[in-house]
Order: sequence, then C-alpha cells, then structure tokens
Amino acid sequence: MRITMIGTGYVGLVSGVCFSDFGHDVICVDKDPSKIALLENGEVPIYEPGLDTLMAKNVAAGRLTFTQDLKAAVDGADAVFIAVGTPTRRGDGHADLTYVYAAAEEIAHAITGYTVVVTKSTVPLGTNRKVQEVIEKARPGLDFDVASNPEFLREGAAIDDFMRPDRVVVGAETERAAEVMAEIYRPLFLRDFPIITTDLESAEMIKYAANAFLATKITFINEIAALCERTGADVKQVSKGIGLDNRIGNKFLHAGPGYGGSCFPKDTKALARIGQEHATPMQITETVIKVNEEIKRRMIDKITDLCGGSVNGLKVAVLGVTFKPNTDDMRDAPALTIVPALVGSGAQVHVCDPQGRHEGEGLLPGVHWIEDPYDAAEAADAVILLTEWNEFRGLDLARLAQAMQTPRMIDLRNVYSPEDATRAGFAAYTSIGRRDLA
Ligand code: NAD
Repeated sequence: MRITMIGTGYVGLVSGVCFSDFGHDVICVDKDPSKIALLENGEVPIYEPGLDTLMAKNVAAGRLTFTQDLKAAVDGADAVFIAVGTPTRRGDGHADLTYVYAAAEEIAHAITGYTVVVTKSTVPLGTNRKVQEVIEKARPGLDFDVASNPEFLREGAAIDDFMRPDRVVVGAETERAAEVMAEIYRPLFLRDFPIITTDLESAEMIKYAANAFLATKITFINEIAALCERTGADVKQVSKGIGLDNRIGNKFLHAGPGYGGSCFPKDTKALARIGQEHATPMQITETVIKVNEEIKRRMIDKITDLCGGSVNGLKVAVLGVTFKPNTDDMRDAPALTIVPALVGSGAQVHVCDPQGRHEGEGLLPGVHWIEDPYDAAEAADAVILLTEWNEFRGLDLARLAQAMQTPRMIDLRNVYSPEDATRAGFAAYTSIGRRDLA
C-alpha cells in the first residue's frame, strides 16, 4: 500500500513509522519546515522511546520518506491519513477543526486516482461527513471515500500501543474503503488484534467516549483520595481493593495531581460541547472537567500547607513537569497550573525533568532548570515529586534530605511512603490520599 500521512506530530509520526514497519510505503508530510528538515536529517522532533531506531530502520529500507510537498505526496496514494492537531477552540471548548478541513481541501486538489481519505485526528461527530463534503465541493466527481480511524496510542508507550493495540477502530461505509483499511492493518489482523468496523459517527464517538471514560475513572479515584485524606483511609489500599473487582479493573486507579496532557482535557471539553450542541448535556463529563480543575488547584494548597502556610521566599525543587513520564509533551500538564502558582507566590523554583526542558522553557517563565535531582534539591525547603519519571522513582531519599535546607517532600504520585520519608530523615511528607508525616 502507498500511504500518505499528513502531520508528523505525536500521532502522525508514530503511525507513519509503524505503517512503514508493516511493509507499506509511507510519505509523511508536515507544513512545518523545521520538522521536515530534522526528519530528513534522521532526527526525531519529539521524544518518544524507540521511535528514532524504528524510523532509521524504515528510512534505510527505503519505505519511509518526509516532505513538505503535500501535492506530490498525495499523488498516487492508496490512503491519505489526516493526523493534524484538533486543539480546543478558544472560547467555547469545541475542537478546532481548521487544520483538518484545510488539510482535506489540500488533499482534494492533490488526489489523482481512487484514494481513501482517513481521519486519524480526534474529531467531533459529523466531521468525517464534512470532510467528504469539503472534498466533493473542491473536486466534484472525484473518486474517493472517507474513513474514520481514531488513534488510541499513549505517548511514552506509543510504538507498543500501535503495534499491539487493544483494538483498531475503523469507520468505513463502503466496501472499497473497508478493503483498503483492512489491507493497511493486515499485519495486525493476522496477529489476532481485534479490528472493529463501524459507521463514521460510531467511530468518532468511540474515541470521545473512551477518553471521557478514562478521564472519569482517574478523576473518581482522585476525588476518593481527597476523602481518604480527611478520613484516615489509604487510597493505595482502596485502589487495590476496588481494582481487583473485574468489573472495575485495576488500571487508571492511581491517584495523582489531576489529569493533563494533549488529549483528556481537550477531548472532555469537546464532548461536553458536542452534548450541548445536541441538547443532551454530558453532565458526568462536565463535572469531571470541573473536579479535575479543583484537584489541580488543591495541589497548590497541599504544597503551601506543608510549607507552613506560605512558599514566599522558599526554595522549592520540582521533579518532573511533563504531563507524564517518557514524553516531552507539556500540553495541559498539571505543572502548568502548579509551577506558575508557586512562582507567583514568591517561591524560588528549581525544575528538573529528563525531557521537559525544551518544551517547558517557554511555558514556565521564572524557574531555574537543573539537570540533576540532587542538585535541584540543594538547600531547598521542599521537594515536589510531580511526574513519576523512572529517574525519580529510585531516589536516595537520605541523600536528598541531607542536601535540603528543610527536608519536606510533597509526593504527588505516591512513589514513596511516609515510612520511607521518615527513615530517610524527612521532617515532613505528604502524598495523595494517605496520612501525612508532619
Ligand atoms: P501535534 O500537534 O503533535 O501534530 C500535528 C502536526 O500536524 C503538526 O506537526 C503540524 O505542523 C501538522 N499539520 C497541521 N496542519 C497541516 C497540514 N495542512 N499539512 C501538513 N501538516 C500539518 O498533534 P498530535 O498530538 O499528533 O495529535 C494529532 C491528533 O491525534 C489530534 O486530533 C489528537 O487529539 C489525536 N490524538 C493524539 C494522541 C496523543 O497522544 N498525542 C493520541 C490519540 C489521538
């Protein structure tokens, strides 16, 4: 198959590289010249474990190329995937579809023979039909079909998720389009990964329903954690106790500082908006959005409380700012709420993150970036564990405590325990949904 991938972000690049590894010929297109220049030079513009090696292998095999020239890339393709961003539109929470429709219009003018135009971006219900209309209007009588193929990969584990998915969802309404999609995903079908074919709207809805459900699950346990703190229960034990019930399942029950990232915040807002537009309010999702904001703000109180009521003039070390480990993505990370609040309250903030600096520098003004966690904690009055990178999971807590001016830890990922902290010489320790040491 000849595949064109429009957009070389976290989804487009991973999908393009993995499709080429399936044996397809893939051309990846981006309108950002700096990204294409890096890719042509063999460099990966994002941090995603394993992507550099897999990309190099498929470039060397002659199956994977990069270009800015969309027209040439679409010419002769069996399928063209749209994997551009769909961020939250300013003001109303709706997904901004400007990039999707602009790509559709460009694709329309570049198609030369029968092509399936596949939307991989997360898009509201009805968008695929609108993509079809945009293309038909631009080139009446063109031989093409649309398909919806939402992506479920997680940043940080994206290659494994793409290569070993829980399921692949394909919204296709003609046999011809379904056949092209089946051919593209044949390597996964042969290995018995479930591929479900639906109508366009159901495929679009599956993606939003999945993300809203996951955001609800994580917010539920975060709210239970807040109540645990008030009542003496331990949320880790509670998570284990409920997660062993197969109807609930043990995934996504780790209490933390609130969800963030490039998908949950924008997709929950978009679903809420879709509900409003169809006079069917998504009340659970709307509440989840509100509660998650409160949870992030509660983290600031937690930090301030452990520091005796104010962080003004204190030196605070923040370990991890990306929205989760193994990515450089800072989009909607809880750090973007918490760190500016600390800086605004007069704290001197030292930040350490294995991959976050490049993205984070522009987003977190007024902080000092430090390479090493022990250096970041030197003479600090508090250390905040905000993202559970492996680098921060096995810290020598005694060494950390010793380096600090006042050994206090705010562990927002429950990596350590009050007992670990006491043993290491911390004077104060707080975490999520458990008893404090203070
Ligand atoms: P991204 O912002 O990282 O990448 C989008 C890329 O598209 C950018 O490089 C941009 O320059 C390029 N682009 C935009 N318009 C273009 C055009 N007309 N021609 C060529 N290139 C163009 O976005 P992302 O994180 O990869 O997300 C893409 C979509 O996938 C979104 O809808 C998102 O919701 C969805 N998604 C993301 C994830 C994730 O973990 N990031 C997971 C599942 C689904």
